Amino acid sequence: MKYIISLDQGTTSSRAILIDEEGILLDIKQKEFTQIFPKKGWVEHDPKEILRTQLKVFEDLIKSNSINPKDIISIGITNQRETTVIWDKETGEPIYNAIVWQDKRTSYICDKMKSDGLESYVKEKTGLVIDSYFSATKLKWIIENVDGAKEKVKKNQVLAGTIDSWLIYNLTSFESHVTDFTNASRTMIFDIIKLKWDKKILDYLGIPASILPSVQSSSSNFGNFKYNGVSIPINGVAGDQQSALFGQACFEEGMVKNTYGTGCFLLMNIGKSIKYSKNGLLTTLCCSADHKPEYALEGSVFVAGAAIQWLRDSLQIIDNASDTEKISSDIAELEQVYVVPAFAGLGAPYWDMYSRGAIFGLTRDSGRNEIIKATLESLAYQTKDVIEVMEKDSAIKINSLRVDGGACLNNYLMQFQADLLGCDVVRPEIIESTAMGAGYLAGIHSSSWDIQKIKSNQGINSVFNSKIKNEKRTLLYEGWKDAVKRTLNWIKK
Ligand code: ADP
Repeated sequence: MKYIISLDQGTTSSRAILIDEEGILLDIKQKEFTQIFPKKGWVEHDPKEILRTQLKVFEDLIKSNSINPKDIISIGITNQRETTVIWDKETGEPIYNAIVWQDKRTSYICDKMKSDGLESYVKEKTGLVIDSYFSATKLKWIIENVDGAKEKVKKNQVLAGTIDSWLIYNLTSFESHVTDFTNASRTMIFDIIKLKWDKKILDYLGIPASILPSVQSSSSNFGNFKYNGVSIPINGVAGDQQSALFGQACFEEGMVKNTYGTGCFLLMNIGKSIKYSKNGLLTTLCCSADHKPEYALEGSVFVAGAAIQWLRDSLQIIDNASDTEKISSDIAELEQVYVVPAFAGLGAPYWDMYSRGAIFGLTRDSGRNEIIKATLESLAYQTKDVIEVMEKDSAIKINSLRVDGGACLNNYLMQFQADLLGCDVVRPEIIESTAMGAGYLAGIHSSSWDIQKIKSNQGINSVFNSKIKNEKRTLLYEGWKDAVKRTLNWIKK
């Protein structure tokens, strides 16, 4: 028996997944790690804890399944995107904690970039909007604010990268300093057409190209993991959302997946020619099996499953996230009750950081259950908001939405989503699309699989079809739009 192992380095936990040669997912190990919040708006991870937990789950996986390391054909890596580390080239010691994608400390650098007129240049080259979310300003912050960092950069003593680069450098015993196109495309310093680091943005930010990794195709050899005397090739690497798109076999133009996790992340494959959004979506590189660049439009919803956590942890009106399914199915249809979970402002397509959460349409007989149902439905409404602009920007009508992530197990939510979109919602048998994606990329380069095999490995668990009339759909959605409008610009600037 031969295996592929996929390492899924997420924002809150490190996971390792065992896949056999038939593409069957055999086992998963997971370990959470520490979230560090040094100041309001700052989020950090300890890069060594990330590495430690990742190695631990790898070891647990092979030990508990009695795997001989020689039988591991290849390793795939998928990771939280944008999170940035700088480390010493010789010792491998990070010079500062990893600055996480959620960290807002560099907003002032972004404001300056905007006032210096860089917005359209950055969008044209990188496909992104200027935001502290991406790696570029995090790199600049570390270089300028960590003791001795500038000096070390000048003397070429340090290396920089996203989490994939950090892991690979360590797994290969400091041999490979590399990243893949999908991770590079989230740094805000990578030209997604020429496929190289952008000199103008680098010069503006004072980041030397010499500290950056070399960039290669997601399905290629990134070096070898030296484990107990065995050399295991790392043959697949991709950022988590692009990995999920690949894992869901969205290989053709117009195919879309939505991951319902803490937030929702929608990606549409738009093929080999680039398109820019006029409605606040990002353009980003996605994985291709043939080494030619392919693009995706991406829209993110900040608060999705997190709103369900709010019901559980803050309001304490449910015990488990999954309770929302039965409660929502059992009560009558809502009459114009909406929860807008704009706890952190609103992302695509509104981009209003001053919007705040609100509940609309309560009557004397509204209770806990109505609030629960309206909160659950808000995941579907926010998804519809992104799908609407995706259709406009791509000029492609979406007929089917592939779903994954924890909250896609909620049948009420999936049916409501199908009703609201008026298209099919397809839930796969394996909802671990993110980890499967990196595994597939590794498998393709190791010649274990090809695109056809991956397509045929897409078992379907359920397809939800729309069961409501157009007029009803329009009525429901108009109510939502109206509710959102009333939350916009709520707090004073
Ligand atoms: P992440 O990878 O972002 O941590 P997961 O994909 O593990 O997220 O999904 C967990 C999120 O989904 C949590 O926010 C949780 O509240 C929500 N969730 C999990 N199961 C359900 C369910 N059955 N119904 C609704 N929400 C759910």
